[in-house]
Amino acid sequence: MTQPLVFTGSRFDRASHLRSNSDWLQEKLNDSASRFLPLYQLKALIDLKTGGAIDWRSGEEVRPFIDATAAFVFLGIADDICHFAIDVSAMDNPRQPPAPDWGKFIDVRSIAPQLEPWESAALAQARSMIDWHNRHGFCAVCGSKTIAREMGYSRRCSNEDCNAMHFPRTDPVAIMMVTRGDECLLGQGINFPGDFYSCLAGFIEPGETIEQAVRREVLEETGITTGEVRYHSSQPWPYPSSLMIGCIAEATSTKITVDHTELKDARWFHRDQVRQMLKGENNGTGFRIAAPMALAHQLAKAWAEAE
Ligand SMILES: [Zn+2]
Repeated sequence: MTQPLVFTGSRFDRASHLRSNSDWLQEKLNDSASRFLPLYQLKALIDLKTGGAIDWRSGEEVRPFIDATAAFVFLGIADDICHFAIDVSAMDNPRQPPAPDWGKFIDVRSIAPQLEPWESAALAQARSMIDWHNRHGFCAVCGSKTIAREMGYSRRCSNEDCNAMHFPRTDPVAIMMVTRGDECLLGQGINFPGDFYSCLAGFIEPGETIEQAVRREVLEETGITTGEVRYHSSQPWPYPSSLMIGCIAEATSTKITVDHTELKDARWFHRDQVRQMLKGENNGTGFRIAAPMALAHQLAKAWAEAE
C-alpha cells in the first residue's frame, strides 16, 4: 500500500490524559489557533476550492454552537494545534452554511477518498463520535438525560441516584478473504448490483473470538468450513461506528451452499480473475469488486498479488 487506507491515517495525539482538564479545554476553545470541523447531520464541511479538504473553522466562528451546548468532541493535537468536531445541525436554515464563505456539507463516504489520509481519519473519528452523542441523549439505565463529559468521550446520567457513565462504542466486524489454493470465495450481498462481489463479513458477537466469528460467518453464509485464520489489517468504518477487522481464512471444503437470507450468490474466483477485477470495472471478467477505499479491496489485493 503506497498510502494509508481511507480512514486509517490518523496523526492526532488524542491526549486522553487532558480530557478531564476543564481549564485546559477552556483555554483551547478560546485559542485562535484551534480548529473545528463542523458536521451538519453527519455531513462534513468541505472546502471544494482546494480540490477537497476539510474546511476547518475557528472557535470564534462556531462559538454560538458551543454556547448552545451542541455536541462537540476533542479530536486531538496535530502540529501543536488542537482539533475539534462540532455538530452544527441546530442551525436555523439547515440548507445553508452558517456563514456564506463556508464550504459545503458533504457525505463523509463520498468525500473521504479525495482527502489527505489524516483528514479522512479525522472524518471517521468525528462522524462516529457526533453520531454517538446524538443517539445517547438519555441514560440506558434509568432514562434520564445524559450530559457530555471528558471533551466528548463519555456521557454521565444527570440523575444523581443513577449516575451511570456511558462510553462511545466500537462494533467489531470480521471481514474475510477465504482462499483455497489459487481460488478465493466472494459473495454477493442481497443489495449488491448483479455483477458485484466482495469479501464475506459479519459482526463479531459477544463472547466470540475473531477467528470463531470468521469461521461461523463463512459457514453460515456459504456452508464452507475454514481452518487457519490470519489477521491482515483493520479499518474504522464510521457507519455508525464499526471497526472492520480484515482476515485471510483458509477453506477446508469446496461445496458452496448459499444462505439466501444473507447473500444472493457466492462463488469461487480464480486469482487471475481477481487481479483483473482489482483494476477497476470488470475488465472483461463480467464481475466487479469493492473500490480501493474498502478493506475488502485491500484484502483481495494482498491475496491476489502474493507470490
Ligand atoms: Zn441513569
